[in-house]
Amino acid sequence: MDNGFFVGCHLSAAEGFRGLARDAIAVGANVFQFFTRNPRGGAAKPLDPEDVSSFLATARERRFGPILAHAPYTLNACSAKPEVRRFARETFADDLARMEAVPGNLYNFHPGSHVGQGAETGVALVAETLDAVLRPEQTTTVLLETMSGKGSEIGGTFEELRAIIDRTALGDRLGVCLDTCHVWDAGYDIVRDLDGVLRRFDAAVGLSRLRAIHLNDSKNPLGSRKDRHEKLGLGHIGLDALARVVNHPLLRHLPFYLETPQDDLSGWASEIATLRSLRT
Ligand code: FE
Ligand code: FE
Ligand code: ZN
Repeated sequence: MDNGFFVGCHLSAAEGFRGLARDAIAVGANVFQFFTRNPRGGAAKPLDPEDVSSFLATARERRFGPILAHAPYTLNACSAKPEVRRFARETFADDLARMEAVPGNLYNFHPGSHVGQGAETGVALVAETLDAVLRPEQTTTVLLETMSGKGSEIGGTFEELRAIIDRTALGDRLGVCLDTCHVWDAGYDIVRDLDGVLRRFDAAVGLSRLRAIHLNDSKNPLGSRKDRHEKLGLGHIGLDALARVVNHPLLRHLPFYLETPQDDLSGWASEIATLRSLRT
């Protein structure tokens, strides 16, 4: 296995970190993404120190790359409702505290939807939430995910992500996770002009902040603002363009996480095997 190629998928954390590592190995992955808790929200299970230490040993032995925790979808840091923002803050803070049990990894969240308040207010509220939860001593890197811009979503443009980073006191510690389906749906043509999109990302955000890639095909055409993921090669992005993403000199060192719709682990195993065969 090419251990310099960090590729994996989204796995379900039902059996703790040990179960995640076992499933990752089963699909040929050396990284993975997982939800910190039920994706619709709710309390997280208490961490089992034995489970964590067994996972850390496996990750070391297998030379896993960074694992990526994904915040619940219900977390909306820029909601107009104070109780929704309070839930976002509490969940975020609790997740970050738990992530310190597996130090030095990544935590990804959707900036959220401003629901009629306007992008500028949305950006300010996201920054306010980040100011309440980020700690200078934390080892976890928090990532803003690039979004498709559907509805009143924040983060459909690279400039909005930059605005959040600039308004956050510890913004220099934030990174970005680029989702190929989302940027495509937002109108960034990674099929015909990947270099141009990366130049625009670099100008707005800075490529040094790019820390992870969500690798997905899209059910919809460029600029559709839909956010419907498709299996690799079956959507409008296509396998050739996705292979150029994993092999691009400015991206190939990054960890890649599949979030394609699959019924079981075998779908991911086959996509990961395809990607490994396409890696140059
Ligand atoms: Fe996401
Ligand atoms: Fe994603
Ligand atoms: Zn998505």
